[in-house]
Amino acid sequence: MDAPANSPCVAPVVDGRLLEKYDRPGPRYTSYPTAPHFHEEFGHGDFLREIKQGSTVNNPPPLSIYFHLPFCRSVCFFCGCNVIFTADRKRPEAYLSALSTEMGMVQNALGENRKVAQMHWGGGTPTFLSPDQIRRLAEDVRGRFCFEPGAEISVEIDPRETGGTHISELKQAGFNRLSMGVQDFDDEVQRAIHRIQPEALTRRVFGEAREAGFSAISVDLIYGLPAQSETTFARTAERILDLNPDRIALFNFAYLPQLFRHQKAIQAERLPAPAEKIRILQRAIETFTSSGYRYIGMDHFAKPDDALCRAQDAGTLGRNFQGYTPRAECELIGMGLSSISQTGSAYAQNHRKLPEYMACLDAGHLPTLRGIKLSSEDVLRREIIMRLLCVFELDTEEIGRRFQIDFESHFANDIGQLDPMIADGLVAWHGRRLKILPAGRMLARNIAMAFDAYLDAKSAARFSRTV
Ligand code: SF4
Repeated sequence: MDAPANSPCVAPVVDGRLLEKYDRPGPRYTSYPTAPHFHEEFGHGDFLREIKQGSTVNNPPPLSIYFHLPFCRSVCFFCGCNVIFTADRKRPEAYLSALSTEMGMVQNALGENRKVAQMHWGGGTPTFLSPDQIRRLAEDVRGRFCFEPGAEISVEIDPRETGGTHISELKQAGFNRLSMGVQDFDDEVQRAIHRIQPEALTRRVFGEAREAGFSAISVDLIYGLPAQSETTFARTAERILDLNPDRIALFNFAYLPQLFRHQKAIQAERLPAPAEKIRILQRAIETFTSSGYRYIGMDHFAKPDDALCRAQDAGTLGRNFQGYTPRAECELIGMGLSSISQTGSAYAQNHRKLPEYMACLDAGHLPTLRGIKLSSEDVLRREIIMRLLCVFELDTEEIGRRFQIDFESHFANDIGQLDPMIADGLVAWHGRRLKILPAGRMLARNIAMAFDAYLDAKSAARFSRTV
């Protein structure tokens, strides 16, 4: 099945000159407002009220539940996750017990009538847990939440920590989607990022997963890592195709040593120069799209029959803290250290440090660190930004009608910021529809930034570069 001619699945035009021109720090927009604008005046009582309120409406939205499992055996220098490094396999026991307490509190607030449409375990390394710990956590979750038939149940796996009976235990626990961290097969890159993961090991675990019946396997890659070049990454891309994953995520390396201490171990001069990074990306897009994958959103590739492709074609693709999702209507409830929840009109984030997280649960309340209650203006701007990043088009007439505003006058200043991008062919007006053109696909974040009312020089320092 080919993408329709005007579909956002059509591969973007990668114009190096324009990418360099617009390359600057900017949010990835997994939320709007973005996380630096969450504040501690929004606490556990506010979040509890939000959850309860969402459950009292008629036909409450389905849930997407996320569990953060933060343990890792060793540090990968590129990592931007909230991680606890340990070799002690007993360390997760107290954490699992705390998670169970948190689940109980969330379950009480949600009440009886909420259904789970998606569950994801991320980290850290979920497979740092032993198969027995995985089974116990999965049973605990199943005992507390009610799942829709056919719910998407996914887990991130690290082949270096996936041995023995992990795969069969995950299958038995009801997982139907695996997301496998690879990053790059090149030996020198692996040394530079302190993540030695032999290709043979990845292939073995991939094969075991297929044999166990996993028909939905994603592979995560990163471009812009130290020691990478167009040639080395082209070899990795070819070898990934040989594995035949169902989805490929190709993330832009967010180099923020001022925020993530271990990234200081990466020598900036070993990072590919901007022009080389663009060539790496361009070649990877060509390789994947010419091999039957369709380009989804800003950083995913999927087979044409994949739920992400169908959602993008139907204009229902969504974006949240887990990236792109075919179930945009879900409320997201994150549990565990640093996890983020998204209800209809609020975001809430848990404590990032274990002692504080545990202390809240011991004190009998949710471990909320901070959050934000959205104003009606925030909800409007979030809708615009997510439309641009998911569907690459904005029907301003429909937005105006739905939010009861005159779009042109309400956003006069924001629209003015688009002028240089219109002149450069990144975006164009078709009547009252704003369309991102193929040359603007890779710069969708820059285009969305025109509608971000919170952007300032202070927050810019916290964001990675857009290219
Ligand atoms: S990249 Fe994954 S495995 Fe590596 S330190 Fe971060 S969370 Fe752990």
